[in-house]
Amino acid sequence: MADPTRIVILGGGFGGAYLAQSLQKHAKRHDLEITIIDRNNFFVFYPLLVEAGTGSIEPRHCTVPIREFARSSELLMAEVKDLDLAEGEVVCRLIGDDRDRRVGFDHLVLALGSVTRILPENIVSGVREHAFEMKHMTDAVAIRDRAIELLELANATSSLEEKQRLLHFVIVGGNVTGIEVVGELENFVRDATVQYAHLRREDCSFTVIEGAPSILSILPTHLHDWSRRNLEERGITIQEGLTVKEVHGDHVITSDDRRLPCSTVIWTAGIAPNPILKSFKGLPLNTFGGLECSPDYSAKGMNGVWGLGDCASIPGLDAKPMPPLAQIAIRQAPQLASNIIASIEGRPTKPADVHVQGILVPLGRHKGVAKLKGIRIEGFFAWAMWRAIYLMKTPGWRRRFRLMMDWFLNLFCKRDYVQLGMIPASHREFHGQLRTGRTNDGVGSDRPAESD
Ligand SMILES: Cc1cc2nc3c(=O)[nH]c(=O)nc-3n(C[C@H](O)[C@H](O)[C@H](O)COP(=O)(O)OP(=O)(O)OC[C@H]3O[C@@H](n4cnc5c(N)ncnc54)[C@H](O)[C@@H]3O)c2cc1C
Repeated sequence: MADPTRIVILGGGFGGAYLAQSLQKHAKRHDLEITIIDRNNFFVFYPLLVEAGTGSIEPRHCTVPIREFARSSELLMAEVKDLDLAEGEVVCRLIGDDRDRRVGFDHLVLALGSVTRILPENIVSGVREHAFEMKHMTDAVAIRDRAIELLELANATSSLEEKQRLLHFVIVGGNVTGIEVVGELENFVRDATVQYAHLRREDCSFTVIEGAPSILSILPTHLHDWSRRNLEERGITIQEGLTVKEVHGDHVITSDDRRLPCSTVIWTAGIAPNPILKSFKGLPLNTFGGLECSPDYSAKGMNGVWGLGDCASIPGLDAKPMPPLAQIAIRQAPQLASNIIASIEGRPTKPADVHVQGILVPLGRHKGVAKLKGIRIEGFFAWAMWRAIYLMKTPGWRRRFRLMMDWFLNLFCKRDYVQLGMIPASHREFHGQLRTGRTNDGVGSDRPAESD
């Protein structure tokens, strides 16, 4: 009997998990052995990540277990470390193990996603040390923990200047993720102030800094204007056509040399393909480090190596690379599965044909904006549509039911303003310095030292 065809998928996120599901339908007929390698045994349902962070939903409810989602695939919960293309093997290490393993493949799919784009130090300094990202579940919960810690500190200080700095949140990047973050965070932090005797809603401030001439530039003019007005009416400052050049523990310096005192910076200014691709020898990469693919998802000039999702640059029918979105990765997956099967059977493959179906952005406080198939919607209806669409897109009825319960209970029950212990060590260290009036960059803070 012939050996099965081994298909190894690196990354079990939106692209990888949906691909495994699509391939499973062909597994018996074509004798496929499908293996997913991911460092987690779940993938994050990203559109709900911000809500999970701010406690509107239980964090677990925006994760999807890979084993349950792609039942007939093998999952290796392992860190991908290297590729040996000559031998047709992936080098990985199981989480918790101390030795590398080699996993052989006949077809390899790279679906390793993206990371937050951090510009080089000579362009923007201090981001890694002082800014938060919004990319993983731990990031979302860490931002919530940070906000609660700062509310506690602000409540205990008698200096107004100090209070204002502690409760000033700066979001760098005003596209979909940044706007979603500021919308939810404003809601969360201001509503939390009722629990503190010495805090008022007006003590909290939020600034979005966007380098492009407008926030949400992905949307038509009418919708980004509407969003700006809505956010400004809620007291959120929107600074467009401006960038940040330095991030410090207690302030940022903008491109026009202004110093904005703040204690939390959230960096949502773009993404980049997973940098691990650069360490794999022999892959065709573009200038951004993404896997350069032909229109049929195959890595350029290679046989049996394919790209999918955020880490790959795949031209659509208009010859432009498809945008890094979950809705794109999900719809690329069945097309790639058909092409892998075609290649196994020796049939011609088909070019990718996936378009953005619509953009929905929740602004918080039951408002949102949406552009769907040419229709533009704003306000409550757009927000309700966002919820309904993502509820239906969430895999599995059990998960959908849990989400509905979370949202329903939120109508009647107050959120819990408790920490889950997720502030990264680097940021904790900074807090210690804040309390003693010292900053990370050696510049003394203008606040008198407080005792711990
Ligand atoms: C906050 C946020 C909100 C978003 N909202 C939306 C939205 O509303 N609509 C939309 O369409 N898109 C949205 N996106 C974008 C969307 O999430 C991505 O486009 C999508 O996840 C891409 O799928 P992917 O499979 O390429 O990558 P991912 O889903 O990120 O999967 C990559 C996988 O690779 C694994 N991995 C990476 N490196 C390694 C390694 N070395 N070893 C082992 N495993 C590894 C990771 O654990 C991960 O599971 C959002 C993104 C964010 C961050």
